[in-house]
Amino acid sequence: MDKKEILSKFSTDPERYYKVKLFENEGFMRKSCTICKRFYWTIDENRINCPDHSDDTYSFIGNPPTKKRFDYTQAWKEVESFFKKNGHTSVSRYPVVCRWRDDLYFTIASIVDFQRVMGNKVVFEFPANPLVVPQTSLRFKDLENVGVTGRHFSSFCMIGQHSIPNSQGYWKDECIDLDYRLVTEQFGVDKKEVVFVEDVWEGGGSFGSSLEFFVKGLELGNAVFTEFQGDLSNYRTLDQQIIDMGAGLERFAWITMGTPTAYDCCFGPITGNLIEQTGINTDSELLVRYFTEIAKNFERFSDLSEVRKNAIKSAGLSNEQMDKIITPIEGIYLIIDHIRTLIFAISDGALPSNVGGGYNLRIMLRRIISTMNRLSLKFDINDMIDMQIDYLNDTYPELEETREDVKTIIAIEADRYENSKSRMQKIVSKLNQKPTVDDLIRLYESDGVTPDYLKEMKVISDIPSTFYSKLSELHQSKKQKEQDQLSLEGLPETELLYYADDPKEFDAKVLKSFDQYVVLDRTSFYARGGGQEPDHGTIEGFDVVDVSKHGNIVLHELKEGAIKEGDTVSCVVDSKRRGDITKNHTSTHILNSSSRSILGSWVWQHSAFKEEDHARLDITHHSALTDDEIVKIENLANSVVKKNMSVTIENFDRGTAEQKYGFKIYQGGIVPVKSVRIVSIEDFDIEACGGTHVKKTGEIKLVKITRTKRIQDGVVRIEFVSGDTALDYAKQHDVDLARESAELKDKAKLKETRHEQKQELKEKLPILVENITACKIGTNNVDEIIVDITEPGKPNFCSAMSEQYDEFFHISLGEKLIEKDPWMVYCGVFEDGDRIRAIIYSGEQVGKDKKAGDIAKTMSEVLGGAGGGTQRFAQGGGKDKSKKNDAIEKAKTMVLGV
Ligand SMILES: [Zn+2]
Ligand SMILES: [Zn+2]
Repeated sequence: MDKKEILSKFSTDPERYYKVKLFENEGFMRKSCTICKRFYWTIDENRINCPDHSDDTYSFIGNPPTKKRFDYTQAWKEVESFFKKNGHTSVSRYPVVCRWRDDLYFTIASIVDFQRVMGNKVVFEFPANPLVVPQTSLRFKDLENVGVTGRHFSSFCMIGQHSIPNSQGYWKDECIDLDYRLVTEQFGVDKKEVVFVEDVWEGGGSFGSSLEFFVKGLELGNAVFTEFQGDLSNYRTLDQQIIDMGAGLERFAWITMGTPTAYDCCFGPITGNLIEQTGINTDSELLVRYFTEIAKNFERFSDLSEVRKNAIKSAGLSNEQMDKIITPIEGIYLIIDHIRTLIFAISDGALPSNVGGGYNLRIMLRRIISTMNRLSLKFDINDMIDMQIDYLNDTYPELEETREDVKTIIAIEADRYENSKSRMQKIVSKLNQKPTVDDLIRLYESDGVTPDYLKEMKVISDIPSTFYSKLSELHQSKKQKEQDQLSLEGLPETELLYYADDPKEFDAKVLKSFDQYVVLDRTSFYARGGGQEPDHGTIEGFDVVDVSKHGNIVLHELKEGAIKEGDTVSCVVDSKRRGDITKNHTSTHILNSSSRSILGSWVWQHSAFKEEDHARLDITHHSALTDDEIVKIENLANSVVKKNMSVTIENFDRGTAEQKYGFKIYQGGIVPVKSVRIVSIEDFDIEACGGTHVKKTGEIKLVKITRTKRIQDGVVRIEFVSGDTALDYAKQHDVDLARESAELKDKAKLKETRHEQKQELKEKLPILVENITACKIGTNNVDEIIVDITEPGKPNFCSAMSEQYDEFFHISLGEKLIEKDPWMVYCGVFEDGDRIRAIIYSGEQVGKDKKAGDIAKTMSEVLGGAGGGTQRFAQGGGKDKSKKNDAIEKAKTMVLGV
């Protein structure tokens, strides 16, 4: 049975499913729409169609049906005060990052706040009954509608009115009565304008009949009477009936203001401010005409570009009016909307990335930037963040705490996008045909090229309506739970001694034994869980190599050996191993909070792993850690160790724990049980955790971070050791450091000596050159350099092979010497390892027939090697060190011809 069938089934029995006391008291009539046949309830005798098919659809634009005007913030105050005076508790919103459900990244509706999944059953847990909550809800399926339709948002405030029918709460009659009075009394809408339409709503594994309420064609809310569980064709009654009324606060504000779009009244003064900055002439009559047509056409066409095309035609807008007014104003709406969603998501700890829920955040920021570029809008993103947080302060004061963090994250992400642009340009320039939706998805998935960028680059003019919904589906994939293959049915829960006295030696009864596996009636062996590795030890002398939990039954795996069912066995837990793992576990909590306080509020535990001799903590963070950050995190962690703080463990009812400590307790993920175990390290760190912990932080002795690494977009891994392992590591590290620093010192010393020598040579060289060129005719010795001077205008020869001169000296002197005396040939010979090498310079005059290259070749032959070069400079050498005098004599003969 599908939704339509179940609706018609419910509608055949309106007395049972839809008729409420209010309808009788106020004289409501039940009618069927002449067009779509759906049933609706009204007190207006003249009404013939449902709100979707009436002539008054969206006639509130420019003509609101209320006497009072309320903007977004004021509208919530009205709603809240109405429900409070009618016995409801007003609850603060829950985080938009849905950490208490493993099948959702973001909170998509107010009822999600109170749903907890246990096994395959959804249970409802209400902190008060009845209650009302302004729940910010994120939805990314209709992103292309945002800014265009006048009423779609990527995040909106769902007014959640929830009740469990019992001595405190109520059921259908009172729910509809309250909603009717909210609209007519509190907001002052004429009773004749309120229409209730029969519908069915399902979600989260449960469903029920519902009444949608409309005013002037705008759906304000939907009251769902949740009473069934299962799928539509096979269902049974829930043990607990639930009133789930969800209404869009944005719409309540809009209907009282009658502005062209809901955006105009829901972002407070921000829209006006941005429009002013751009200087767009916003003729309000034109906007009213256009957006009323958009609203009407939206019901008629499924494709957004069709909706737009027809609205332009019906409203009679020129191309110029579209380009100069509508297109930029749509851009502004989109930008404000997306910024608001980013503020909520980042404040609640989500980071833009290419995985999971971060995906949508990244694409939204890129849309903001592309839209600004495409429309040449020069808004300051930080100013927009400030304006939004200031405006939302009355309803959501908590956003103040993360104001600067939101700016930091958005700036980093904007920078990243800027840096990827040249690469994206290259990819785009290679596109040779209009991309399909699948191409667009591939372009984004593998290259990060958003369709908005393609729009900015004028490659496409519209983004296909299906793009964002397809993308969002792709990334909605649920985590698959491991299926238990083992048959442990019928066994009772294992008594967990490690949560009680935690004895390291104990006796237990064998309830089941098969292959290498043993189930006991009670155990002190910690089963793998929460990233903590299992205990080892022995059962009846056999080694325990693995311990795992299946439901509430603990399974021990033995290395070898068989144990008889029904026997009582003696068990020993390896307490050294357990102690080390425990220290690592508590250290994980300490490092997690240390990282958050050093890096920023966006840091959450992503995952963790705790073994005996090493552990790691993966945290959400935008960049790789710097050395300075690592040192600061480690120091803060060790200061907590030094303070010897108490670690306390208390069990709370889940709802109580959430209200008391907030959702930060879910660092290790969701807790699928009603009672949560809260581990507190005084007020430094408070988490829900099922692992083993030290009693005092001092037991940890020391925490050492051994390595950090960015393992994926938005996630950084911190590898660390603690306890004695950390002390050993630190000792070894000191030794390594000492060795390294000694090596460094030697290197520095050598460098210094060379530097000194060079300085010395720099001063010595001009004098040396002066002395050589001043030599008289004949053979002279200047500082162990043999100088042979002939008559003016004839070649001179100069050679050096003293051990005090190195390669650098010969090159420096040769250069200078032939510069000063163009008739000079310089020949320097020196040993280099097992070789003898020669460097030859020939002056400009002498070089014409006494080429350096030739001399080097000849000398190298004598030395038993090879060489060559140019007329001016050459080098060569060989292995025969005993021939160095011969080589120089040969060179001298070549030059002087004697
Ligand atoms: Zn209809
Ligand atoms: Zn833990």
